[in-house]
Amino acid sequence: MTDLRIEPDWLADASLQSILAILSADGEEARIVGGPVRNALLGLPVTDIDIATTCLPEETIRRIEAARLKAVPTGVEHGTVTVVANGRPFEVTTLREDIETDGRHAKVRFGKDWTADSKRRDFTINALYATADGDVIDLVGGAADIETQTLRFIGEAEDRIREDYLRILRFFRFFAWYGRGRPDADGLRASTRLKEGLSRLSPERVWNELRKLLSAKDPSRALLWMRQCGVLTAVLPESERWGIDTIHPLTLAEAELGWQPDPLLRLMAIVPPDAARLTELARRLRLSNTERDRLVAFAQAEPVKAQESDGSLRARLYFGDCQAIKDRLRLALATQRGKPDTLSETARLGAQLSIAERFEAPPLPVTGDDLIAAGIPKGPELGQMLDRLRRAFVESGFTLSREKLLDLVKAPAD
Ligand code: ATP
Ligand code: MG
Repeated sequence: MTDLRIEPDWLADASLQSILAILSADGEEARIVGGPVRNALLGLPVTDIDIATTCLPEETIRRIEAARLKAVPTGVEHGTVTVVANGRPFEVTTLREDIETDGRHAKVRFGKDWTADSKRRDFTINALYATADGDVIDLVGGAADIETQTLRFIGEAEDRIREDYLRILRFFRFFAWYGRGRPDADGLRASTRLKEGLSRLSPERVWNELRKLLSAKDPSRALLWMRQCGVLTAVLPESERWGIDTIHPLTLAEAELGWQPDPLLRLMAIVPPDAARLTELARRLRLSNTERDRLVAFAQAEPVKAQESDGSLRARLYFGDCQAIKDRLRLALATQRGKPDTLSETARLGAQLSIAERFEAPPLPVTGDDLIAAGIPKGPELGQMLDRLRRAFVESGFTLSREKLLDLVKAPAD
């Protein structure tokens, strides 16, 4: 045990305390592990709480159910049971060692050895445990590395990567989130040397890591190193010729203008806006349909120019894809801000972005029924008339009243 202690608010949570107590009775033991301990030491917020225990998975399930809590065997073959208490999930994993690995999966052996369990984890900062009282247990030197914000593999970086190539991406992901200065030289060298192995991973795991990497407050340094050593091209060949120069001004704009870090917008910053290539990227990395649609719509939207009028922009927001236009505008504004002697363009893009962000399509004040009442027969003519009125309404800046629009019905089309 170290003399380190954590005392975050979440540690006092009654559900967490009772799960730890249930799994620590009768000679067994349970501790909080990994992310929450690391983040508590760094004073950062925690979303998921992972627990490690000496109980075998069946024993975890038995004890949890006996306490009338819900146990879901989410990954029992690897020892993981999700416990739901008070509507909140806790991941409980039996202490284990990886006894056979093929670069993607591991065959595991359950055990009671905390040192073996900590050594099978990826980085020193991810292998700390805490007891229910908040005492920190450090079996791999993780606390010192948290102190210096050093991201270091446990053991030999090359060996650890050969066991699971995803660790290359995790190396850059955790560096982006918690690292400082340059990435650890051994980790960098091993990642460079073994990057070909990334092609063996399932696309879901790759995108999941990339998305988390792209969600860091400032992923620009991590991305630069990844690009430098060829890892970025290995997983995102689209970025190779396009470059990643926009990432830095984008993260600056986010920080200074209060935009939430947006992993998809960051992705858009480093790949060419080419609908066919982005469709292919989305298929290859198994992006969700929502993610794919947003990427493709971004590529298909005309870039917004500073000289575009407000009216034309509003018409585009009305008829087009608002999200895609906002994405275009944010990237345009972020890049423009970094350029010298372009103050007026920057101000203009800022104004356009606030129009886009506030834009809500006002409903057309006349309906099909109004037109029928005005003598327009049902059928194609009705649709054409509605389109004509909608255009007039948009062109007027959404100011034409119902009466004025109905007057237009009587007027001949121009
Ligand atoms: P986050 O805050 O992003 O959830 P985390 O540290 O909880 O960070 P997870 O990906 O949720 O990270 O993994 C939980 C823990 O499991 C890690 O802290 C690490 O100890 C271990 N782990 C996860 N994936 C791997 C892996 N591929 N190889 C080795 N250990 C891993
Ligand atoms: Mg986690």
